[in-house]
Amino acid sequence: MARLLLLLPTTTYRTEAFVHAAHKLGVDLVCASERPSTLEELAPGTLLTLDFADPEGAAARVAEWSRGHPLDAVVGVDDLTTTVAAAIAHRLGLRANPVAAVAAARNKYQMRQCLAAAGVPVPRFRRLALKDDPFTAARGVAFPCVLKPLALSASRGVVRANTVDQFIAAFHRIGAILHRDDVGVSGEAAEYLLAEQFVPGLEVALEGLLVGGTLHTLALFDKPDPLDGPFFEETIYVTPSRLPQAIQRRITKVTAAACAALGLREGPVHAELRVNDDGPWVIEVAARSIGGLCSRTLRFGTGMSLEELILRHALGWTIDSLDRERRPAGVMMIPIPRAGRLQAVHGQEPAAAVEGIEEVAITAHLGQELMPLPEGWQYLGFIFARAETPEAVEKALREAHAHLHFDIA
Ligand code: ADP
Repeated sequence: MARLLLLLPTTTYRTEAFVHAAHKLGVDLVCASERPSTLEELAPGTLLTLDFADPEGAAARVAEWSRGHPLDAVVGVDDLTTTVAAAIAHRLGLRANPVAAVAAARNKYQMRQCLAAAGVPVPRFRRLALKDDPFTAARGVAFPCVLKPLALSASRGVVRANTVDQFIAAFHRIGAILHRDDVGVSGEAAEYLLAEQFVPGLEVALEGLLVGGTLHTLALFDKPDPLDGPFFEETIYVTPSRLPQAIQRRITKVTAAACAALGLREGPVHAELRVNDDGPWVIEVAARSIGGLCSRTLRFGTGMSLEELILRHALGWTIDSLDRERRPAGVMMIPIPRAGRLQAVHGQEPAAAVEGIEEVAITAHLGQELMPLPEGWQYLGFIFARAETPEAVEKALREAHAHLHFDIA
């Protein structure tokens, strides 16, 4: 039986989807996390504790462990584990991206340098030291701009500034975020931030799978809510895109060029692009699949999940079809409106009863301390819809969301 190692950070939303896919494939599953599980001693062949912040150390540990339990594939889930997954795969000679490519995609400054050098359209950018005087740093930047940490994700710490005063406030705010206990960045990522030209336009997300260096677009999502800042909260994703086919082709081409420039060759990619009169601009390419529970919108061939497709690819198994089921689908990531403790959720039943709604999944638990952007990174939950047209999907998601009310104390 094939044996698969899944790297599951304790903060991920995606354990269930990946574990379910692994069971469906009938592989021997080994799960690794960054914190020891109380079950580890009871199930020594199936649970591992690894330091995800130390890719080489983790690779050595898995190499040692795998002598007694040979592995056929390793898959990292979410941004936190992409580099360590590549390091382990490299050590064991398994199918994966080069470590340097994944590391470049995890560092927004390195990514920008790499894409700009390859002629991929990216906003003008500049790395700034947090120890410097922000007033002086602001002089070298054109407005409006976006300030962001080098290594966080889910739009955490990403702030638009239109003026020098806003720039200085954002600079200090991001510095404070990087010092939070629950952030855990070190080295360059703790000492610098990135300032970029703000790119106006529509935003899309491309979900893809790289196979031997070729990018296959699995889905292109429109993001119909304007993302103009000051914070960039993800809300609605709808696929297929309503953009003209010619623009969609350019988006795929630019994303493929970005993957090639970074050196990414295998496995899932999730790219964010903005489109305006000058064409598509790459905001970011992450060497992982779509976050949160959003992959539930996608089904391939005769009902295969995105996770199953990713595991099959990592194992080198055949994939019958990379074609997404044709029916338009969408998700709304329910944003956290303000900080506080979640006390009650109202309106789930009428929300779920809206035509086209498949599921309303509230992932925050009662009593949970909620933190909105830019300090936070979580969602209250996810709403899923399918309908005859992308317009109907979007409408259903908005209607369902309007039924939901959250008591936050
Ligand atoms: P993260 O990896 O944390 O999601 P991103 O760099 O992808 O960070 O930025 C998050 C969001 O912020 C993007 O999806 C986009 O909406 C917005 N954003 C980031 N950079 C820019 C930019 N230069 N111009 C316009 N919007 C941006």
